[in-house]
Amino acid sequence: MSRHRFRTFAACVLISQTILFGLPVSAAAAQRPGRVDLIVSGGTVVTLDAQRRVIEDGAVAVADGRIVAVGARAEVVGRFTARAVVDARGAAVIPGLVNGHTHVPMSLFRGIADDLDLNEWLTKYIFPAEAKNVTEEFVRAGTQLGLAEMIRGGTTTYCDMYYFEDAVAEETERAGVRALLGETVIDFPVPDNKTWPDAMAYVERFVKRWKGNRLITAAVAPHAPYTVSEAHLREVRSFSDRTGAPVVTHVAETRKEVEDVTRDHGARPVEYLARIGFLSPRTVAAHTVHLTEGEINLLKQNGVGCVHNPQSNMKLASGVAPVPQMLRAGVLLGLGTDGAASNNDLDMWEEMDTAAKLHKLSSNDPKVVTAEEALALATINGARALHMEGQIGSLEGGKRADIVVVGLDSLHQTPRYNVYSHLVYATKASDVRTVVIEGRVVMRERRLLTLNEALIKQKARAIRERVTRSLAGSSGR
Ligand SMILES: [Zn+2]
Repeated sequence: MSRHRFRTFAACVLISQTILFGLPVSAAAAQRPGRVDLIVSGGTVVTLDAQRRVIEDGAVAVADGRIVAVGARAEVVGRFTARAVVDARGAAVIPGLVNGHTHVPMSLFRGIADDLDLNEWLTKYIFPAEAKNVTEEFVRAGTQLGLAEMIRGGTTTYCDMYYFEDAVAEETERAGVRALLGETVIDFPVPDNKTWPDAMAYVERFVKRWKGNRLITAAVAPHAPYTVSEAHLREVRSFSDRTGAPVVTHVAETRKEVEDVTRDHGARPVEYLARIGFLSPRTVAAHTVHLTEGEINLLKQNGVGCVHNPQSNMKLASGVAPVPQMLRAGVLLGLGTDGAASNNDLDMWEEMDTAAKLHKLSSNDPKVVTAEEALALATINGARALHMEGQIGSLEGGKRADIVVVGLDSLHQTPRYNVYSHLVYATKASDVRTVVIEGRVVMRERRLLTLNEALIKQKARAIRERVTRSLAGSSGR
């Protein structure tokens, strides 16, 4: 921790003047047609657009939460007058990262039980700890902790599934972060809803409440094909058809799941879900580790967004998702951290680096999952996997202004030959300097503007005491 503090402090000292405010706007200038709210000015703009433009000494202009121009700095600054300027000279300017799979309140269970397989980890530790501790208050505290960590690491959109998701939505909106949030429904009593009808009534209210919100998209999240019955999965699909709400779920995470679903339904998980009409272009499926070629094609044909979680899959020894094959088949594929209880952080930089290296190792081919592909998984392709590519994922006119300024002057980034290589193989979350979401600066030069970091840590430590006491004697750890 102290090492991080030092690095942050050092960075502040080294970067003399990084944000300029209150640029004089003369009466004449105010009348000029190109007045905008914000310009991110200078730096290497890595757009992730269709041409994959990289603009040296570029700029991004923002008005009313949207990007209005991306181009050479001289051109953008010549066309627009801004109320505020983020000076990104010497930095990379990239689209906000998209964390495609989280259970954000589980940040409070970080490190509670490690070095176990998914089944033992879930049934012996996570489910009991959740039953005894998860309240709305817990969820709010855990969400704030996760949000602070994600903003610090340049994540601007995340896709979550947990309980009390309405409270997650409130905290997320308050922090100014974008999210696709799925209320978890499952065939046993959970902290917020004790029966299936109660859970679906919650989902109905939740989806209705957030409809049309600029930051929050509310969704329904059936836990997995082995914890939700066929009848309930069909009900979720009709709910999604009726309301347009996305459906977030876990699919084919472990070999055991494949064996259990095959035994109970006579088909592998993706085949079974396709057969019962569950899959649609509104589905987001996390993990998708154990797939046949036929199942990869079913995911592609049904327009399912898949989310790869390499660090969680490695830690729980769940297996290696067939990412190179999925990319070749054109499956919509993003990247996620999974909950911080199985990772044990929400760091998308580590996830990019791991994704690139894991598939080289497992396929014995260093050419698969290039640095550029890994960055795309965490940005534009992540947006596609969440079915949000019309709004986010790249720096292009018309998209929401989710922009991250990443320092490129740390020792571990010196010297620089290729920006994609640096972003994926050398950059750390602590290199992220400034974060803009929906045109609003939520972190400025490593200072969080929408969350109280000291209070968040204090609450998290107090909850840790409660969790530890609640498990004393039951787990023997
Ligand atoms: Zn998960």
